[in-house]
Amino acid sequence: YCLAVVIKDTRSLGRVLLVDDEHLVRVGARRLLTSRGFDVVEAESAIDALDALDEESFDIVVTDLYMPGAGGLQLASQIKDLHPDLPVVLMTGDTEVELSAHAVAGALIAGLVFKPWDGEEFVGTLCRAMGQASRRVQSDDEAITVLLIEDDDLDARHFVRLVKRSSLTVDKVTQARTLADAVELLQEFTPTVAIVDLSLPDARGLDILRQIKSIEPGLPLIVFTGTDDPTLAVQALQDGVQDYLVKGRVTPDSIGRALRYAIERKRAEERWVYFARHDQTTGLINRAAFRERLGRSIARARRHQKKVGLLFIDLDNFKAVNDTYGHDDGDRVLSLVANALRSAVGPSQIPARLGGDEFAVILSAVHDRSEVLAAAKRVLGAVRRSTSRDSNGIPVEASLGIAMFPDNGENVDRLLRCADAAMYRAKREQLGYSFYSHEMHARASRANQLESELRGALARDEFELCYQPQYELGSTIRRSGVEALLRWRRPVGEVMPGEFIPLLERSALILDVGEWVLREACRQAAEWREGGTEVRVAVNLSARQFRDQRLPEILRSMLTEHQLPPSLLELEITESMFLADTVATRRVLEELTQDVGVRIAIDDFGTGYSSLAYLKRFPIHSLKMDRALVRDIVTDEESAAISEGVIALGHALKLSVVAEGVETQEQLSLLRSQGCDMAQGFYLCEPKVPSNLAIGGRVETNRVSEPASKNTSTAMEAARDARRLTRD
Ligand code: C2E
Ligand code: CA
Ligand code: CA
Repeated sequence: YCLAVVIKDTRSLGRVLLVDDEHLVRVGARRLLTSRGFDVVEAESAIDALDALDEESFDIVVTDLYMPGAGGLQLASQIKDLHPDLPVVLMTGDTEVELSAHAVAGALIAGLVFKPWDGEEFVGTLCRAMGQASRRVQSDDEAITVLLIEDDDLDARHFVRLVKRSSLTVDKVTQARTLADAVELLQEFTPTVAIVDLSLPDARGLDILRQIKSIEPGLPLIVFTGTDDPTLAVQALQDGVQDYLVKGRVTPDSIGRALRYAIERKRAEERWVYFARHDQTTGLINRAAFRERLGRSIARARRHQKKVGLLFIDLDNFKAVNDTYGHDDGDRVLSLVANALRSAVGPSQIPARLGGDEFAVILSAVHDRSEVLAAAKRVLGAVRRSTSRDSNGIPVEASLGIAMFPDNGENVDRLLRCADAAMYRAKREQLGYSFYSHEMHARASRANQLESELRGALARDEFELCYQPQYELGSTIRRSGVEALLRWRRPVGEVMPGEFIPLLERSALILDVGEWVLREACRQAAEWREGGTEVRVAVNLSARQFRDQRLPEILRSMLTEHQLPPSLLELEITESMFLADTVATRRVLEELTQDVGVRIAIDDFGTGYSSLAYLKRFPIHSLKMDRALVRDIVTDEESAAISEGVIALGHALKLSVVAEGVETQEQLSLLRSQGCDMAQGFYLCEPKVPSNLAIGGRVETNRVSEPASKNTSTAMEAARDARRLTRD
């Protein structure tokens, strides 16, 4: 099959006759096809098309289904008579799928393009249709054998004579005089096609057809009968007979055509089944076929008390490959991976493409985990090698999850879910591969439970913001701002942000909750300001919020609502949000900082990719050094050197550097000596609800509503904070 079209080749890919009554459709299709290297001639109607075919030769016809006058199917059937080897592709809306599918199965048309079309698919369909056409010419050289089920010898000889005079070369005609004979012969050989008389000594009518079908279901059948009975003909055709010929009315041409059609239809059906079950980019079986095969493997394993291993494979950075190098390279990578899977698995192991960048392998009839593990390692190795050898050097890594029948599940869905969960763990923890375990099940069901609770949490008013102060490390230590941190007051059982925020993010709930956080933080900052203290509030932004086009507008309206100066709001974003599209990112950041006027801090800096180039180009105010880095600065010289580097880098770029997660006096001193501008952490102050934070004059009044025990602890903490600060 033609998988990728290389445009660099200047030779024409083929001459296309494009038939559609709508000018705009023709223009669109022409533009697409010429850009991909086809020569295109247009026709407005079936009549025009047939005229054009009289004058010039084409490699393929692409026609609309509905046109005034003769439609696409009629055109296709006339082309079939006049130019039997010229493939016809039909353009259709998806409401006519069924009709069109019949036409494909009937070999009348070689492919379907659904409007509105996808360019890649359109071109792919054309290439395949032309490939089919050339194969068909070759396959005409294959030997054609006919089983003639006919008790009348005179009729039989007449048939052979007719065939000889037709344009079709038949290699061998074998005659059976009874149904019993035919059945016996069919045990010995499989003819290309069977010609059936409907009155035999031992059977009559449709019964004959059904018996033959039951032995050889795929065999094309042509009825050759003396009775011209339309009802019988229709029934026979409904039973799957390919053609109905009446003796005395057959010419060499009509019999030759009937035979040729029957054979082609049969092949087209096989192709249709093939396309319905295979992924066209890689040639591997597709998801539907995969599920069926897995179901069968499970059933067989159950009968023979064996195990089945399921490998679920997901490419790690395929989206990046597609975005960076384009879809042609993306498809090439998928094909390489598919080939790697084919080469890595044995005969009883079935690779499949489940969609996108997901693949799977079924390991049937295995004995134990070690066998499955060995296969998994082979697969991973092969995938890695296949893409690293690639000339373009696109590095693709894969993560692989393993589930086993019957250990992890008894049916297809369950096994797939388990393998998927195992794959996610492998990906998250960068393990390469991972077996499914029961803890994963527990984790997955807890996540689902929490997610459904989270859906109503905003409406039930269960969210709350804590604030953790940030301090400036000048000659004196002084509070410069706070970071707002989301808390979920779940009625039963506490859940940490590290657990529930990813759940909000995966379900898009983060957009609503994030908006609530921003609003609440603005309201709080405004309240502190009214109380006489200006406190800058930093809010964590998730990737989805950052990409949300409404963000600037949302911010503007909140700032106006609470009459808050924008400089009192800081947005914390992570580096990973930048990597995808730097042009768009830069635009968003400029709008946020220049038009809206808020500040931007880079959160968790120093652990991720750290593409430093963006720091220079993007409007950013501060860097927050990741707490993983801060954790080791006292004990690990390398960490200390990195933090020193981060601070120097920040200063060179005129950014202020904030160290987060400061837990000890030693860490604070070291950071200070390195010139770090600000610090935040448990040693300085834990995150607290506003009523427990000593900010502004309102604190006392707010505190009234708090339980007494909390009051004392607050007072103690405040005192401790003060001691720490003076001590430093
Ligand atoms: P983050 O942005 O890195 O927030 C700082 C986290 O470090 C907070 O955890 C804070 O409680 C914790 N922390 C502060 N000082 C120390 C310390 O000295 N040692 C240690 N080990 N940890 C310290 P928290 O509140 O559990 O938040 C975890 C993460 O959840 C945050 O990490 C942030 O990524 C996310 N998050 C929190 N609130 C929001 C929010 O409103 N929106 C979004 N999108 N994400 C949020
Ligand atoms: Ca943060
Ligand atoms: Ca952070």
